[in-house]
Amino acid sequence: MKIPFVDLKAQYLSIQTDIDTAIANVISETAFIGGKYVESFERNFAAIYGVKHCISVANGTDSLYILLKMLGVGQGDEVITVANSWISSSETISQAGATPVFVDIDPDYYSINEQKIEQAITAKTKVIVPVHLHGQACDIDTIMAIANRHNLYVIEDCAQSHFSEYKGRRAGTIGIAGSFSFYPGKNLGAYGDAGCIITNDDELAVKVKMFARHGALKKHQHQIEGINSRLDGLQAAILDAKLPHILHWTDLRIKNAALYDKHLADIEDIILPKVRPESKHTFHLYVIRTEKRNQLAEFLKEQGIETAVHYPVALPNMKAYEYLGHSPADFPIASEYQDKILSLPLFPELSEAQIIYAAGKIKEFFANGYADRSVPANG
Ligand SMILES: *Cc1c(COP(=O)(O)O)cnc(C)c1O
Repeated sequence: MKIPFVDLKAQYLSIQTDIDTAIANVISETAFIGGKYVESFERNFAAIYGVKHCISVANGTDSLYILLKMLGVGQGDEVITVANSWISSSETISQAGATPVFVDIDPDYYSINEQKIEQAITAKTKVIVPVHLHGQACDIDTIMAIANRHNLYVIEDCAQSHFSEYKGRRAGTIGIAGSFSFYPGKNLGAYGDAGCIITNDDELAVKVKMFARHGALKKHQHQIEGINSRLDGLQAAILDAKLPHILHWTDLRIKNAALYDKHLADIEDIILPKVRPESKHTFHLYVIRTEKRNQLAEFLKEQGIETAVHYPVALPNMKAYEYLGHSPADFPIASEYQDKILSLPLFPELSEAQIIYAAGKIKEFFANGYADRSVPANG
């Protein structure tokens, strides 16, 4: 049996007619940039989230960058984010001219350790960018309380957490704004790059839209200098065709995660993902932890099972952040976990038979002592 890490083709085939029709319509109407398909997706995404504004942009990195810029972040400012994330969460802080300040992760939930945020705040701090990693919401109430005490904005990085919830409220609707990516492999994925910003703040909505459209809301009336960050018509129509299915697909992810939980339950050598109380984890990723990460990944690959690591090097340990002068000991949990975490295949169309097969192979790996074979570090 072969199990890919994700299977985008399976999802396409399940709604092929809708997707093909959507694409054909955009082309026959040459609605490539702006226009009704983009407006329709923005309206529908705002409606499903129950927020006032959805501003589509070119990708989930731009959405963070645009928000930081339009919240006034720049030279001399500091922005707090988490030590384990995709580099977009921190590079956009630097691109805005500010300095990223990393906080270690929570040992159970992998997201920013709220208890360590306050000690990272200085007079220069402007914004906190928590990342709802893997599909699991951060303890956003605690983060909001800290932000309010210190007069800071919170931008929620929701690139991995479409429709995740904390205490009945959706991730992305609690801070000043939510930043989304629709990269093809994300829970709601386009067929190319795509992203959006959601917010209930009228003034911020106007600013981010203007900045993303060359500083002009009306043609040739440039109020400021901006950038070009647009969702194109094809991606908008594809996302709109997928939107009616997203809550069902999210349920299937949660169901598949529960099946992994069940079939992996009695393996002592691995630690399964823990769901934060009173939250809805939407399992963008199903991440286990083991001392034998590299050996297990190698073994599973030989068995036709693709895995991945999110992420093999914590952000402050990367070459890009050498200039900050950190050592791995500054972020002990993120630095330890980067060698132990392993993401198993998880997507809505994954079958129980595939999950049982993968779980069986993991069991076999530990039971038969394969774990004791040596493989090169990072192999
Ligand atoms: C994917 C991702 C992004 C960036 O999204 P792109 O659309 O690829 O630019 C930002 N933050 C996190 C946590 C992500 O996983």
